[in-house]
Amino acid sequence: ERAEAQAAPLTPGALADGTEVPLLANLGSPDGAEEAVALGAEGVGLFRTEFLFLSAEQAPSVAEQREAYQRLLAAFPGKKVVVRALDAGADKPLPFLSSSEEENPALGRRGLRALLAHEEILRDQLTALAEAGAATEAELWVMAPMVSTVEETQQFTALTREHGLRTAGVMVEVPSSALLADRLLPHTDFASIGTNDLTQYTMAADRLLGSVAALQDPWHPAVLRLIAEVGAAGRATGKPVGVCGEAAADPLLAVVLVGLGATTLSMTPAALADVRAELSRHTRQQAEAIAQAALAAATAAEAREAARAAA
Ligand code: PEP
Ligand code: MG
Repeated sequence: ERAEAQAAPLTPGALADGTEVPLLANLGSPDGAEEAVALGAEGVGLFRTEFLFLSAEQAPSVAEQREAYQRLLAAFPGKKVVVRALDAGADKPLPFLSSSEEENPALGRRGLRALLAHEEILRDQLTALAEAGAATEAELWVMAPMVSTVEETQQFTALTREHGLRTAGVMVEVPSSALLADRLLPHTDFASIGTNDLTQYTMAADRLLGSVAALQDPWHPAVLRLIAEVGAAGRATGKPVGVCGEAAADPLLAVVLVGLGATTLSMTPAALADVRAELSRHTRQQAEAIAQAALAAATAAEAREAARAAA
């Protein structure tokens, strides 16, 4: 199987006019790295680090973390690998980090908020990442989850620089960050839109609650408008804007995201082939027209239909 995959090298993600759109993998542990490469991942757009922490009584040591990060980075020589700092909260409770007293965990001290409240945990993680990055040839980018203010952005950037990490970014997954993207981006190197949480917070619909699942739809024009804000801010500031939520794995929505200004897309590796094929059918101009058609809709269903018609 591996030999076959190598015999027919996968082309990089690109639009019909040759505009490159690197297609990256979302990974939850280093174990999936080889398969992602075999499926044509051009790097990693979201490496979730929770697996290292979730079953632990104490935060893992710097050495333990370094080993795991090094294993991941070694699979992507010369490629971009975006590692996300620990995204914990009362919904993913950690004995050494979370407060279990929160009534609304999704609105509580989670993501970067929790890390800034326990800075030693973030510092250890950044130390391990810097050491792993220095020991491999991958291009290591580090980003913070659940950033909602400019001050948080500044604090995260300062901490990463202090640890010698060259490229630091923020996830845009809270409406405040999307609305203020033009103010946030000057204080960081890149943004990565997390459409799962961005949709949850925009629609005020718990992403884990089946009874409101219909609202958890990234095609909703309210969500698309926020993504368009981030795309416009990326263009204005010259900073890369990736998308790493589930939305990037929907081939037609992937075209819309690029039309709204996304410069890279990251997804579950199984979706790479379909997204690659769909992107190759549209020029940048067409992707922008498809995106505008979706953006002009009043409902998620209309946005889907308008994009389909325009494509
Ligand atoms: C997101 O919220 O879209 C995201 C990519 O992060 P997670 O799904 O891990 O919250
Ligand atoms: Mg998220």
